[in-house]
Amino acid sequence: MKNQEIMEIDLKYNWHPCTQMKDHEFLPIIPIKKGKGIYLEDFEGKKYIDAISSWWVNLFGHSNEYINTKIKSQLEILEHVIFAGFTHEGAIKLSERLCKLTGFDKVFYADNGSSAVEIAIKMSFHYWKNKGKIKPLFFSLENSYHGETIGALSVGDVGLYKDTYKEILIKNITIPIPKDKSEKETLKALKKAREIFEKHYKDVSALIIEPLVQCAGYMKMHSPEFIKGLRKLCNEFDIHLIADEIAVGFGRTGNMFACEQAKIKPDFMLLSKGLTGGYLPLSVVLTTNEIYSAFYCDYAELKAFLHSHSYTANPLGIAAANATLDIFEKGKWLKNEKWELIIDNKADGLSILEFNKHTSKYIWESIQKFKELPNVKEIRQTGMITAIEMIDYPWQERKGLKVYEYGLKNGVLLRPLGNVIYFMPPYIIQKPQIDKMINTAYEGIKALND
Ligand SMILES: *Cc1c(COP(=O)(O)O)cnc(C)c1O
Repeated sequence: MKNQEIMEIDLKYNWHPCTQMKDHEFLPIIPIKKGKGIYLEDFEGKKYIDAISSWWVNLFGHSNEYINTKIKSQLEILEHVIFAGFTHEGAIKLSERLCKLTGFDKVFYADNGSSAVEIAIKMSFHYWKNKGKIKPLFFSLENSYHGETIGALSVGDVGLYKDTYKEILIKNITIPIPKDKSEKETLKALKKAREIFEKHYKDVSALIIEPLVQCAGYMKMHSPEFIKGLRKLCNEFDIHLIADEIAVGFGRTGNMFACEQAKIKPDFMLLSKGLTGGYLPLSVVLTTNEIYSAFYCDYAELKAFLHSHSYTANPLGIAAANATLDIFEKGKWLKNEKWELIIDNKADGLSILEFNKHTSKYIWESIQKFKELPNVKEIRQTGMITAIEMIDYPWQERKGLKVYEYGLKNGVLLRPLGNVIYFMPPYIIQKPQIDKMINTAYEGIKALND
């Protein structure tokens, strides 16, 4: 089939996510036939660098041989089994690994990020109820994003997604974020947070945050000290802290998990996206024995957490997740010409996280030239997440969309958020591809002035 035919059939039947479908009257939908490594390829052989990891999920490239093999062998053994009353080998392995990696005690599985948010919110509320307290509110951060289901949308703060539904959302209270990573702004925001805590804490079950980077919130970044301060407030006022690491987990911020930089432990940690290396829908809610024990009693006390999803702990997704953790554990970047990644921890080379430091440094150095562009306001970076914020063009001008179109024309998938262009590529991206990604964004932004 050719691109054109696929596009036509697609638009006849499909309703795409997060899209004004009428845009496709002028904006072609891109049919992808295959993916390999950093590239996506359409039906006529045109290649695109996936600079956004296919919505922040992919870590080690498309159609990764190692992950492919692990999923294929799982498929021969067990594709799925009910997870209530039953278990399987992949799940015990993954749970043990995740607990050891994060210091948590218990793993509750779901099948996407929003569901993990719903679970954490329900668990927190339910914990307090089991302890005899009714705390119906949640704290969340200004500009936050936690997904699109009703509960997750309620604790988010991106008006574009949320405002339409305001009449049907659950109640939350928004805490202002620091303007930047500076100590001054951090302390100012924490002072404001304390005032809000003092006023409302009795009715609040939990504070939910995206540590270090608010990805969907235009890639805004804050300091580890801000997270540390919020953890202290939660301790003082007896409120749970939920760390939504769905986007930032698995090395995106430079550490395996963003909370490590703040040296704090939340009461719940949520993981999805990179969890399966970008292969299959899966998410986890990690929590402590302290939370778990509030639900553990005789059945007749009716305190159990009776939440479920049909595909809870799907073995194929879990096989992908275990393979992804294998790569983190054993992957080494050989110091040869091509910086090849091999799965052998005895090899002489850099670990994934060490290697990423070089990659992010190279990206940071390469984007300094954006500062010279008159329509760029700020550049910022946390680990493997890099953002270029253009000046405040009115949203109606849709300048980001123009950069998106420029990128596609030139073989790079950028997907700006409003006036913010960002890079969140798979970790296997190599220097010539970084150069192309950055130069294309540069030219695209520059062309807006023409
Ligand atoms: C993507 C995202 C979610 C929602 O995950 P879905 O799998 O898309 O439902 C929640 N929180 C954060 C921080 C995210 O980036």
